[in-house]
Amino acid sequence: MNVTMNKRISVIGAGFGAVTAIKMLRKHSPDVCITLIAPAPTLQYYPSLIWVPAKLRSRADIMVNLKPLLARLNVQYQPGRVVGVEAEGRRVMVEHDGVTSAVDNDGLIIASGGRFLKRLPGIEHAIAVCEGIDAAETIRDRLATMTGGTIALGFGTNPNEPSAVRGGPMFELLFGIDRLLRQQGRRDQFKLVFFNPSFRPGNRLGEAVVDHLLARMKKFDIQTQLGAKMVRFEADKIVTEASEFAADLILFMPGMTGPAWLDNAPFPKSPGGMIRAEATAQVAGFERVYVVGDSGSYPAPDWAPKQAHMADLMAVVAAKNLRAEFAGKPANETFAWELICVMDMLDRAVVVFRNEKRQFISPPCRLLHYGKRLFEWWYLRAIR
Ligand SMILES: Cc1cc2nc3c(=O)[nH]c(=O)nc-3n(C[C@H](O)[C@H](O)[C@H](O)COP(=O)(O)OP(=O)(O)OC[C@H]3O[C@@H](n4cnc5c(N)ncnc54)[C@H](O)[C@@H]3O)c2cc1C
Repeated sequence: MNVTMNKRISVIGAGFGAVTAIKMLRKHSPDVCITLIAPAPTLQYYPSLIWVPAKLRSRADIMVNLKPLLARLNVQYQPGRVVGVEAEGRRVMVEHDGVTSAVDNDGLIIASGGRFLKRLPGIEHAIAVCEGIDAAETIRDRLATMTGGTIALGFGTNPNEPSAVRGGPMFELLFGIDRLLRQQGRRDQFKLVFFNPSFRPGNRLGEAVVDHLLARMKKFDIQTQLGAKMVRFEADKIVTEASEFAADLILFMPGMTGPAWLDNAPFPKSPGGMIRAEATAQVAGFERVYVVGDSGSYPAPDWAPKQAHMADLMAVVAAKNLRAEFAGKPANETFAWELICVMDMLDRAVVVFRNEKRQFISPPCRLLHYGKRLFEWWYLRAIR
């Protein structure tokens, strides 16, 4: 007898983790009933947001309609925002158009991403590219209208969970804007400043990478403000514990925390507000409930990244373990930690790799830039 026959699986989210989860679930369990719950059936392809300011990508490129994929995989779509989870994970509360309804399941995979901490006073003066296409378009439009001034870029962390940080895209944006202004022949009208509370920003990428990044900033006349905690942003400046400096445009990636709906769910929270999970992606202490991607907090090395690549690896494991649970077998599949980042600079890129055994950074190379574009094409082709 088929162990997944008529089983109902809910997947929360429509991002990287959710898409891989539904693909894996359908591949191995043709007869399972899958419901995807998300505010919109659209995947935002975040890695290419860094190309929006230079007009290499548009809204249509970034926002990928999942309806054809959902139809192909026979996945039901439940529109709405999850506001809570009840009954030990078996009931998801969804709000849509002001009405809250319950979606019951036999298995649950959570992939609703992270949220960004907005506690820093004056945060409204900064644009956070992590918020998606609207923010990326605002950066594009501001750059187009600015005739000069200081552009300050930085990222923060979650003091309660150091792993809840995302620096890579900010380095990409920094070097991308530098390159764009040079291509436009107006770099000399701008001052670029990179700021970070750490003296060694991006150290999760590896020591050699930090050296490379700092040397590159020096080479391209990008000033640094390092080693001082941010105190506040103002309309035209940044104030840190050590100093203050002018900024006509502030681009900032705050530290991350977990989903807001977690306050209305029985799941354990990590110190930083993520859903606490095992190395199997199972939510600690909950049967047939898994969390993948940026929503979760896992036993991990201190350099563990929050990346789409990791969300994909976790989703594969979550789908397999959920199926094992249905079959009454041990759900003990785990995933390996890997950091793979093709750090783009608009017309060239470096690749940064790290796992338990090795770490390296390649020299900058034009081919890697095209490799990043090729990967985007390959990834999205399978979804569209
Ligand atoms: C600018 C930028 C560049 C990046 N570049 C790279 C890169 O080059 N390589 C890489 O590997 N990673 C990159 N990342 C990181 C990567 O995008 C994330 O790690 C990845 O998106 C996490 O996947 P996820 O499935 O956990 O969450 P997400 O992709 O964020 O998806 C979350 C989903 O949940 C939905 N959701 C949110 N709240 C609710 C709710 N209450 N109810 C229902 N649904 C909800 C959202 O609408 C969304 O569909 C980048 C990120 C940014 C911001």
